[in-house]
Amino acid sequence: MLTCHQVAAGATDYMEGAAPPLRRLGVWAHLRICPNCREYLRQLSRSIGLARRALVAAPAAEVEDALAAIFAAHGQGAAE
Ligand SMILES: [Zn+2]
Repeated sequence: MLTCHQVAAGATDYMEGAAPPLRRLGVWAHLRICPNCREYLRQLSRSIGLARRALVAAPAAEVEDALAAIFAAHGQGAAE
């Protein structure tokens, strides 16, 4: 039986399907009996999803406008 530490150490490979079959089976069996690791993987999966969305999402138009205004004001201030 895998330990919680072993499950945590290989969690990313398990979630991405990159773990070898026997390791996947070991993680699966561990998750059946360990609510802490189930919660850890749930939170890790959620964090990865949020990070991916943050990397893909373009800045809102309001943010672009605000940055353009700041850069324009900074540029005007430096020229004076
Ligand atoms: Zn565990």
